[in-house]
Amino acid sequence: MHKYFKKQEFACRCGCGQSDVADELLTVLVDVREHFGKPVIINSANRCPTHNKNVGGAKNSMHLKGIAADIRVSGVSPVEVHKYLTEKYPHSYGIGKYNTFTHIDVRDYKARW
Ligand SMILES: [Zn+2]
Repeated sequence: MHKYFKKQEFACRCGCGQSDVADELLTVLVDVREHFGKPVIINSANRCPTHNKNVGGAKNSMHLKGIAADIRVSGVSPVEVHKYLTEKYPHSYGIGKYNTFTHIDVRDYKARW
């Protein structure tokens, strides 16, 4: 699929096979990969409705649509990753800060948490 990412990395963790990746999301992840020059680890991308329910995801979670990823960048704190994304895309996307990862999704309006 791409030199940095394999489609399997985006697959729903329940094994159902759902592994959609929006082109725009991939573009953002490649940018993060190249900006930091470090591997980007995808904790969670796709979730099918069953898996999303099992992990307590929001009912309208962007993870259901193949447009979201929870990521870690090897050797980089989530605070730094969050800062980079919010500064790079000040007017768009969903970007969420967590202790151990950063959420990014390419929804068509701005959201922050
Ligand atoms: Zn699934």
